Amino acid sequence: MPVFKMLDIDLTTGRSHVTDVSDRFDRDLGGTAVATALLLVTPADLDPYAPEAPIIFATGPFSAVYPVATKTVALFRSPLTGNLGESHAGGRLAMAMYGAGFHVIRVSGASPFPCYVTIEEDQVVIHRAHSLWGSSALAAERILRDHEPSSYKRSIVRIGPAGERRSPIAAATVDSARHFGRLGLGGVMGSKNLKALVISGGRYWPIVETGKYNAFYKKIYDAVVKSPAMKKYHDLGTSMNVMPLSRINGLPTRNFAQGFFEGAEEISGETFATRHLTQHLACGHCQTGCIHMATLRERFHPEHHQFKTFKISYDHELIYALGSNLSISSAEEVLRLLLLIEKQGWDAISIGVTLAWAIDAFQAGHLSPAHTDGLVLNFGDAATCEKVLQRIARGHNEFYRDLERGVAFCSQKYGGKECAIAFGGNEAPGYMTGLYAYLGYATGVRHSHLDSAGYAIDQKALTEPKPDEVLTADLYQEAVWRTTLTSLVLCLFARNIYTADVVLEGLDALGITGWDDARLLAAARRAHARKLQYKERCGFRFDDLALPGKLARVVSGAGQVDPARFARQVAAYRDLARADAPAAAPEGPTPPAAGPR
Ligand code: SF4
Repeated sequence: MPVFKMLDIDLTTGRSHVTDVSDRFDRDLGGTAVATALLLVTPADLDPYAPEAPIIFATGPFSAVYPVATKTVALFRSPLTGNLGESHAGGRLAMAMYGAGFHVIRVSGASPFPCYVTIEEDQVVIHRAHSLWGSSALAAERILRDHEPSSYKRSIVRIGPAGERRSPIAAATVDSARHFGRLGLGGVMGSKNLKALVISGGRYWPIVETGKYNAFYKKIYDAVVKSPAMKKYHDLGTSMNVMPLSRINGLPTRNFAQGFFEGAEEISGETFATRHLTQHLACGHCQTGCIHMATLRERFHPEHHQFKTFKISYDHELIYALGSNLSISSAEEVLRLLLLIEKQGWDAISIGVTLAWAIDAFQAGHLSPAHTDGLVLNFGDAATCEKVLQRIARGHNEFYRDLERGVAFCSQKYGGKECAIAFGGNEAPGYMTGLYAYLGYATGVRHSHLDSAGYAIDQKALTEPKPDEVLTADLYQEAVWRTTLTSLVLCLFARNIYTADVVLEGLDALGITGWDDARLLAAARRAHARKLQYKERCGFRFDDLALPGKLARVVSGAGQVDPARFARQVAAYRDLARADAPAAAPEGPTPPAAGPR
């Protein structure tokens, strides 16, 4: 049985220590389940920016030993929603944590000075970072790469100025173009005066049963590189969704006014690939390489023909948030906005949806040039959007400073709640396929499309209609099952490769025994129930969830969504969750396994 260790770093005292957490992994599997158990013991009334509020980075038993097990989960109290903050990022982080010898790194306290932390195996050093403070998320990585050389595989997690300003929609950027994007981890790092973490090491597990391991590895490797399961992610990436979604009226356009974007072709995955794609990247230990990098030239000065060239990643969510939802139909203009966002270190979905709200609220009369200091906000006006982002970055006035607090805060303060497209306080992802997309955003533990993929249920239900209660149960079961995948911790793009049987075979090949279908599911239900328990302790209530007013008026991919039907299915989902609530108890009775998947 492998040994799992947790590194604790207290930034207030500068001390660190290591704990053997193998028993936690044995009980809860790993990743998100272990991190949830650790977060649950923190006081519920802790401010997200309190020094004692921890950030828990966790990987799982498959991390860095099997293909596409590339992600690291980060759990924290979200400054955006006030409850569970959970974000997932790829890059080399999982591999670097594994090399350093830690499956969990817990950071608490707050440094009295701007700092970055290097972790190379047992060597934990807190460095002064005064000269890094204020640098962009892109520059900080370049500087640290030169200043902190390592002979091991190394990962750099850092924040940009948005995180330093404690924006609740600030991201933490990981290596090349991966992010802990959602729910404000960047702001929490900023509150700890923590600019960056640099992690490396060479402590790899000895594989005991090499025959079993090699056979299993080859099976997964073949599935990744030879089967169609991952091909679409490699070819065009998720940006291949832009055109099909627009065709079925599911591509959010002009702040979710409609699902069809007349300029979709100009910002499609095909157009990006033809005109701007220059490189595919992959997370450490992934054979797919779905990270699509475009190049953008920027003039040093308007009078001179001298340029610097940036590489910027793009995918469906980014194209939706900075393209169709702002009615911007130029791939180059989308990239220009993304470059600013990358430098500042905002979550691209959240800042994009907040910009879309600002335009809508301006046109509805909730905002005026007095707020914007003279700017007139219109959909399709990329140049003005760029100015807005620059003014937010500079903290131009109170209105611009507020914009980086997200759409729920701004609509509460300035009006325009009916056009604030947020669920549970989190800005909506890029699918307006119908009821189940919205239900998934609302009920998901992190209010993400990745919690339960309701957009897929919407599309399937168009050709295979089923009663609402059946589809809501499907949504719930998917959310629970995904907790297994994020405990291992896998990239969810590989979800169709790692079925329950495959997961069990993979555990066995690592010498992790005693797991079967029922135990896997019981662990997932326990972790999922604990997340809801944590959310509810922080004030989350299913009964407070409402469909944003605008979404009841517009036509989605599956037609108009009736708010009363939405409310009924939220209640049905809540009841399914309540039935599983006893699973959250640490020593409570294990509920009977749910039906077969
Ligand atoms: S499929 Fe993409 S996001 Fe997932 S691990 Fe591979 S490169 Fe990373």
